[in-house]
Amino acid sequence: MRVLHISDHADPMATPGGEFCGGQNVYVRELARRLADGGCTVDVVTRWADGRLARQEEIAPGARTVRVPAGPVGPLPRERFGDVLDEFCEGVVRLHQEAGGYDVVHSHYWYSAAAALRLGDRYPVPLVHTHHSLGAVRRAAIGPGTADGEHFAARHRTERRIGLRAAAVVASSPGELADLQELLGTPRDTLHMVPPGVDTAAPTPRDRALARAELGLPVDAPVILFVGRLEPRKGWEDLVPAFALVRRAVPAAVLVVVGGEEPGRRTGPGPLAELVEHHGLTGGVHLRGPVPHSATARYYGAADVTAVPSHYEPFGLVAVESMACGTPVVAARVGGLRWSVADPRVGTLVPPRNPAALAAALVDVLTSGTAARRQACLDHAGSVYGAQRWADDIRAIYHRVAAPRDGPAGEG
Ligand code: UDP
Repeated sequence: MRVLHISDHADPMATPGGEFCGGQNVYVRELARRLADGGCTVDVVTRWADGRLARQEEIAPGARTVRVPAGPVGPLPRERFGDVLDEFCEGVVRLHQEAGGYDVVHSHYWYSAAAALRLGDRYPVPLVHTHHSLGAVRRAAIGPGTADGEHFAARHRTERRIGLRAAAVVASSPGELADLQELLGTPRDTLHMVPPGVDTAAPTPRDRALARAELGLPVDAPVILFVGRLEPRKGWEDLVPAFALVRRAVPAAVLVVVGGEEPGRRTGPGPLAELVEHHGLTGGVHLRGPVPHSATARYYGAADVTAVPSHYEPFGLVAVESMACGTPVVAARVGGLRWSVADPRVGTLVPPRNPAALAAALVDVLTSGTAARRQACLDHAGSVYGAQRWADDIRAIYHRVAAPRDGPAGEG
């Protein structure tokens, strides 16, 4: 089976954690890799956002990324993608023609949905879509921001249209599934709930002391971890004052931040470093900048607890990656986290934008012993977020929607 993934702004080969790269990049790369492993031939088309990278690059045997120019080759803030959307859509249509067509087209995020819809207008290819984020939910959680006026209307229209036109829409959590029906009118029989998988089988340094030594972290200190882009909606502005409160109860605690500005990239301290300094916490906070995804497991393995204080989180891969490494989570009660962190054995949910509640939950985990929670996290991640199950479920959707010429279900 030949599959085209459309991933507008999220290049599967980019290092996440910086300004523009995060969960969608990881989701698309890992899914492409696993689908190829199971016999699919996978192309991922994305906007050419880095002139140092080639037009095509292998992700894994059987999976490649194809970069199409849309606007000047170089970075582009996500909210300005609309300026180059038309050119991107034409690039996707051209790739489809050059490749001789695909059996299934799977689009990610709403700009890619626009490209998929254009493709669908010209070729009878079955469409599958994953939203990754919904305009209406985002707006309700964090206000209009850049997604205001015309931009929001165009996004909402496209999100509705893809739900009505696609053969299948993948929701990552029960909450998203309900939102898609209620807010977008996506028909129930089009919807499939398939949570993303993470690598629970990958060797992770369970021995915390070793992981800490390797990372240059204090071996005996209680460690709180934050992993993610330093967008305001990730709640890092709540985490720093929360950490100041934690230190009153647990003075030896340290906070490790993975993601954000690369150390030394800017001339002065970034906003996070400034906030840390403002609270007099410089000695207790380790700012590591973005790290390759393959290196994040070592950080999760080194931590006692991972904090996910987001104001808005469509799914929140970081929470389940943490569980997959046996590290409990304290998360804001928003989006997919409401579901993934619902079991009190794997984590604690707190109200968003509430440093005091965040601090209290972190202190509770740090002072109550994590051994039982660690095993519960491993069990939970293994049973709900297995990567193989994820790829198998998505492949089963492709077989269901692909034209009969693709052969019986179960083939590649
Ligand atoms: N990530 C990473 N390196 C970093 C920071 C983040 O590999 O320095 C990864 C993280 O492990 C996760 C993804 O980026 O896989 C973030 O996904 P999430 O769904 O939590 O947030 P999003 O970026 O989609 O808002």
